[in-house]
Amino acid sequence: MENKYIVSARKYRPATFASVVGQKALTVTLKNSISQDRLAHAYLFCGSRGVGKTSCARIFAKTINCENRTADGEACNECPSCRDFNEGRSLNIIELDAASNNGVDDIRALTDQVQVPPSSGRYRVFIVDEVHMLSTAAFNAFLKTLEEPPSYVIFILATTEKHKVIPTILSRCQIYDFNRITIADMVEHLGYVASQEGITAEPAALNVIARKADGAMRDALSIFDQVAASSMNTITYQSTIDSLNVLDSEYYNRLLEAFLNGNVPDALIIYKEIRDHGFNNHFFLTGLADYFRDLMVAADPKTLELLKPTPTIAPAWQPWPHAARRNSCIGPWTCATRQT
Ligand SMILES: [Zn+2]
Repeated sequence: MENKYIVSARKYRPATFASVVGQKALTVTLKNSISQDRLAHAYLFCGSRGVGKTSCARIFAKTINCENRTADGEACNECPSCRDFNEGRSLNIIELDAASNNGVDDIRALTDQVQVPPSSGRYRVFIVDEVHMLSTAAFNAFLKTLEEPPSYVIFILATTEKHKVIPTILSRCQIYDFNRITIADMVEHLGYVASQEGITAEPAALNVIARKADGAMRDALSIFDQVAASSMNTITYQSTIDSLNVLDSEYYNRLLEAFLNGNVPDALIIYKEIRDHGFNNHFFLTGLADYFRDLMVAADPKTLELLKPTPTIAPAWQPWPHAARRNSCIGPWTCATRQT
């Protein structure tokens, strides 16, 4: 047992390209460019929050400075340079969060740093997070350095809003677009974390957590920690929807039954139950629309693959009896979460 609790998002932060979740094509490209020594001076990592941009930037910085890369191009995680990176004391990685440091002075401090060559290792990597937040003056001050950096400098700019990055910056960078993490990838990774932590977790429960995280792995891990704590380390579907205040798809199943039978009183009573659980109208209707959409998608084998969860997860979800009878389709249903 660990005597110090570390949140999963930190404990399971990827240390190699191979361990980055959901960005395989991109990490392979980065790894190959390092192996072949074809490095650009500036990269732009684009994508929504929690998809691994900063993690990849840190792994990149570590790998290009590694003294003893593995046969498949990963950092060894053992040489002095790798150890410095992993322990957060490498001088070859400098991070600037442009969301809170977006002025000319902040950029000047950064460009002053750029003039200092690495005392050990080959490259100094400057990560500028949320680069679109830089003020115009800061952008202009930065541009000169970005155009002609010293040979030992590599910039990795990251942004959640690529369209706000000015064209003069875009044209000087190699651009990588990060995917949102799919439900299937998240469920798989959460399953791995659960097994490492000795936590029992139902696949359907992990699916609910993945949906709530909405494409961000970091959020999924935080929600996972929260549910694990409140479920006493046995994560069931029921404990998860209770703990996250998720609107159980069972309500939609019952409503649909009432609609099909033209049973207005039952429909109204079910609706009242939902309202009594604190879910608002807008939220309920969005969930209902998603539910119907998934039913229609599930009704035809041609569109079945448009359903977000993977087939291996689907059986854990409750099939809608009518769909099962009519089309032999067993589909997973949208499980909406309450707005907070
Ligand atoms: Zn190394």
